Amino acid sequence: MSDTGGGRRRVGVMGGTFDPVHHGHLVAASEVQSWFDLDEVVFVPTGEPWQKSDRVVSPAEDRYLMTVIATAANPRFEVSRVDIDRDGPTYTIDTLRDLSAAMPDADLYFITGADAMAAILTWRDHEELFDLAHFVGCTRPGHEMDQSMLEGLPTERITLVEIPALAISSTDCRRRVEKDEPVWYLVPDGVVQYIGKHRLYRGAST
Ligand code: ATP
Ligand code: MG
Repeated sequence: MSDTGGGRRRVGVMGGTFDPVHHGHLVAASEVQSWFDLDEVVFVPTGEPWQKSDRVVSPAEDRYLMTVIATAANPRFEVSRVDIDRDGPTYTIDTLRDLSAAMPDADLYFITGADAMAAILTWRDHEELFDLAHFVGCTRPGHEMDQSMLEGLPTERITLVEIPALAISSTDCRRRVEKDEPVWYLVPDGVVQYIGKHRLYRGAST
């Protein structure tokens, strides 16, 4: 356990739709946990996803349970219900406000992929976001990221991390299930079984 920051805990926050959670998410969380010596990483499935209103998103309980299944074996991974239990669309500012109120002894590290990082300026109250957390932008295949993207942002509050390239997306996983193609080894075994048991993504319009 790290004692930098006056004994404060270091907690990663991995927000996402997780429809479904896949090994790209898990590797990114694991790499950032190790890189920053985080005490834990909290996965936070979104409630009603305002940026994805173009498609039907699976019920929050299914996305929550798949995330629990995927993270259960790792003692440093946790799952939070703050976003799915809050009414209305999920905004990262609310996630960070709720988590910092619940964990006043923690320094938060918000983990996000390059694609989401690029959109950060469109997020609600983005000035306050950087007061509440350090931001960790992870590389992701197909989404270039360099320092120039950070123009106008408080760079002392942002770190870009290269993680092993895993060209996995939830969109591709959903399409595969719909076409009866395998998702074994793209998502954890328990998640493959959960998708099958609950017939998720069958005839979905991704
Ligand atoms: P979708 O295809 O439905 O958008 P997704 O695979 O992008 O799903 P999200 O739930 O949208 O998954 O992503 C949650 C977070 O994880 C985002 O910050 C995203 O950038 C990041 N992320 C997703 N896939 C990867 C990956 N393969 N490598 C690194 N980061 C990833
Ligand atoms: Mg995405």
